[in-house]
Amino acid sequence: MQIKDSQPVSRVDFHCHSTASDGLLTPSELVARAEGEGVTALALTDHDTMAGLAEAREAASGHGLVFINGIELSCLWRNRTIHVVGLDFDASHPGMIEAINSQEQVRHERARTIDEKLSRAGLPPLLDDARALAKGVPGRPHFARAMLDRGLVSGIDMAFRRYLGDGRKGDVKACWPALETVTGWITAAGGVAVLAHPRKYRLTNVKLRSLIEDFRTAGGKGMEVVSAGQSPADTRYLGELALRFDCCASIGSDFHLPGQPWCELGRLPPLSGDLTPVWQRFRTVTRQQLGL
Ligand code: MN
Ligand code: MN
Ligand code: MN
Repeated sequence: MQIKDSQPVSRVDFHCHSTASDGLLTPSELVARAEGEGVTALALTDHDTMAGLAEAREAASGHGLVFINGIELSCLWRNRTIHVVGLDFDASHPGMIEAINSQEQVRHERARTIDEKLSRAGLPPLLDDARALAKGVPGRPHFARAMLDRGLVSGIDMAFRRYLGDGRKGDVKACWPALETVTGWITAAGGVAVLAHPRKYRLTNVKLRSLIEDFRTAGGKGMEVVSAGQSPADTRYLGELALRFDCCASIGSDFHLPGQPWCELGRLPPLSGDLTPVWQRFRTVTRQQLGL
């Protein structure tokens, strides 16, 4: 424990979520928590939405924390869902606003397909219930909750086991846009496109290298080298890949909710000194402003 406490931590975090997507804290609560954990520069990167950015920015100014616009966009690469984080873009850019609308359409489409497939499996229409629960576009957890509320299943796990889990009728893949489409959106809005949590896709090293190569060709500039819950060996390997593919390196916890010590704001190790940090590509803030 003592050894851990004395290890250096990074003061920046460029990947986390609020109630604007699937996080538990409101944007203001998230900023307050980050500040309390010693973070000096934060990007809020909710899934396919910019809805939390204004509130987070406002809260950050009260805390003296440097706030960076962020987003986590879903896309497809070789038929797999990949996440791309956009940092320091212009949130009022018309292309970005259109992009968000189009991502929302994809989610709506998926929700409708889930509902259709579930009715073919003999369930009543659940889309309206799921929508009411989601207060937006529903995903599988909302359908599970709707089933439970109607007494169609005895628990959330049963809903997943029977209807919504991997390979079940309600396990519907979303038709996300291609990788180069989302990197294009971010770049056009003046932002830096960063490949999120490269180890989470469970790709072989050969496939991971292909992904990074394609990502670079598509205009992606950076990759997350430091993520929460990652082994030091993985972090070293991702650092090597960042150098090899001339990617700048980002740091992000992917924080969603309190109570998970392995995924907390302000606890990540700093980037190794031979890497080019992603903030060197930010347009709106200087290194001095970031306190680095
Ligand atoms: Mn999430
Ligand atoms: Mn992700
Ligand atoms: Mn995330």
